[in-house]
Amino acid sequence: MLIDAHVHLDKYGDLLDQALEEIEVEQIFTVATAMDMPSYLDLQEIGKRSDLVLPTFGIHPRRAAEYENRLNEIGRYIETSPAIGEIGLDFHWVKDTSTYPAQRKVLEYFIAAAGEQNKFVNLHTKAGEKEILDLLEKYDVRRAIIHWYSGPMDILHAMIQFGCYFTIGVEVLYSDYIKGIAKGVPDHLLLTETDNPGALRWLKKNNEVGMPTAIKDVIETLAALRQTTPERISELVHANFSRLVANDPALQQLSPILARL
Ligand SMILES: [Zn+2]
Repeated sequence: MLIDAHVHLDKYGDLLDQALEEIEVEQIFTVATAMDMPSYLDLQEIGKRSDLVLPTFGIHPRRAAEYENRLNEIGRYIETSPAIGEIGLDFHWVKDTSTYPAQRKVLEYFIAAAGEQNKFVNLHTKAGEKEILDLLEKYDVRRAIIHWYSGPMDILHAMIQFGCYFTIGVEVLYSDYIKGIAKGVPDHLLLTETDNPGALRWLKKNNEVGMPTAIKDVIETLAALRQTTPERISELVHANFSRLVANDPALQQLSPILARL
């Protein structure tokens, strides 16, 4: 009954078979977010190997500048994708400010399409938190997953008011600020992620490849922080994700899969 709502499965390389095996053995429902078009094509192939893997199309803010003049093509990909992500803004880690207008243009195109097609979105928000909330409001995109939130607390609370879901990931093991966020998200909006394979390597500045079972460490830490059991956290996250995708015409196939987990 585990949910990993933000993973880069196409980046596992030689470890992909092992990652898919862990997903099957541990029964981890996995939202496989794309970075760009080739990434989404790879994920569609990977998705054929497991009904626990949901590939979704997005253009990561780091890639946005390469795609700002390809919006029609993006539109065709969006039509084929049951949900949207990874998309967003990054004005923190991306230092090249000349890419910021392209990031904004590509993101707004995606959010507008998500609003029109009523698809859920998976968002990267680094230093763009307020702008992203404004866009969700503008296009009335009510089903949003905010991935690895690390922004200001006032915007966190505004996003909670709006009804955004939050994936808490592996940084909760290491950061007091993220622990505070993990405690602040209300029960009904809590989700979990790994953002692997790269998240642990990025956090610990080593060569550790993050595997899907890292989701269990996240759940245990969340349970300790929220003074409950890992089983209760898993149930909560499963119920939240099931509610997020319920009644979504593009995701009808998920109901029996989630029901069996
Ligand atoms: Zn990601």
